[in-house]
Amino acid sequence: MKTAIIFGASGQDGAFLSKLLLEKKYRVVGASRNIRTASPNLQRLNIGGDMEPVPSCMLDLNSLVRLLQDIRPDEVYNLAGQSSVGLSFKKPIETHESISVATMNLLEAIRRTEIPVKLFNAGSGECFGNTGGEAATESTPFAPQSPYAVAKASACFQTANYREVYKLFACTGILYNHESFLRPEQFVTRKIVSTACRIAGGSGEKLVLGNISIERDWGWAPEYVNAMWRMLQQEQPEDYIVATGSTCRLEQFVAAVFDRLGLNWKEHVKTDKRFLRPTDVKIVRANPVKAQKILNWKARYTGVDVARLMVEAELETNP
Ligand code: GDP
Repeated sequence: MKTAIIFGASGQDGAFLSKLLLEKKYRVVGASRNIRTASPNLQRLNIGGDMEPVPSCMLDLNSLVRLLQDIRPDEVYNLAGQSSVGLSFKKPIETHESISVATMNLLEAIRRTEIPVKLFNAGSGECFGNTGGEAATESTPFAPQSPYAVAKASACFQTANYREVYKLFACTGILYNHESFLRPEQFVTRKIVSTACRIAGGSGEKLVLGNISIERDWGWAPEYVNAMWRMLQQEQPEDYIVATGSTCRLEQFVAAVFDRLGLNWKEHVKTDKRFLRPTDVKIVRANPVKAQKILNWKARYTGVDVARLMVEAELETNP
């Protein structure tokens, strides 16, 4: 039986990854600042009781060392940290600490304990910034444009550096936006889906958005945790882009959500400067061919499928 520690186990990805690893018969230890098996995400996936919760603070190196010595995991997944680009403009230091400093501590704890673990680090396609419409590959230089992207770039460089210098088995999945019904409304996909469903139910409200001409590579989160696991089953640690390879305008996503509910989005949506960001990557494009070739991983669902799947999940929970 393999043992995995998941940092950030109660978030969207942590919950889906816990489920995947439990299905693969792993012992799963879920570490987070205030982990509870009663976490809504874990309960929603019906796995709260099967995962072992441990409280952990990634800013405390000694406690990480003790945790690793105590659990002696085969695999460690670093999914913790502030996860919203928008919020990072308001909380740059917390974003930096919870992503960059936390990752550094985890790498250092692994180095000090000398336990032969395999580490997955959750990176972000935001690190590439504007690529001028070109699809980014693993060799495209980083040009981060938000406190979030700067912190993720730093964590990715640290991970690569520990791999080269200390020979750790450590890799970063450069993840593009991946969504599901476990996303909070802070993220635009869930905001659109929840509001549109309320409108369809007769709430009479408007959906107010920021820039709807941005383009993103939106995928389906349950598929992305599978790519994370596959990265740690390879002989060599390497970084991989994890994306659908297909880009969708926010406007198209909105239209797909309202279409699924039999509504015309133009009658229900308005925009407001209040939701604009100081900087925002306009067009995101990714080339996930390396993951396809080496990990044999390919996303099944792209942006408009994600819109439909999220509406269906929302209707199931709030019919
Ligand atoms: P993140 O940027 O990866 O953290 O994901 P979000 O879902 O928060 O934002 C995705 C994109 O949607 C960004 O380019 C936002 O500027 C854009 N967007 C447009 N309107 C909104 C809005 O009302 N809320 C949010 N969160 N994002 C919006």
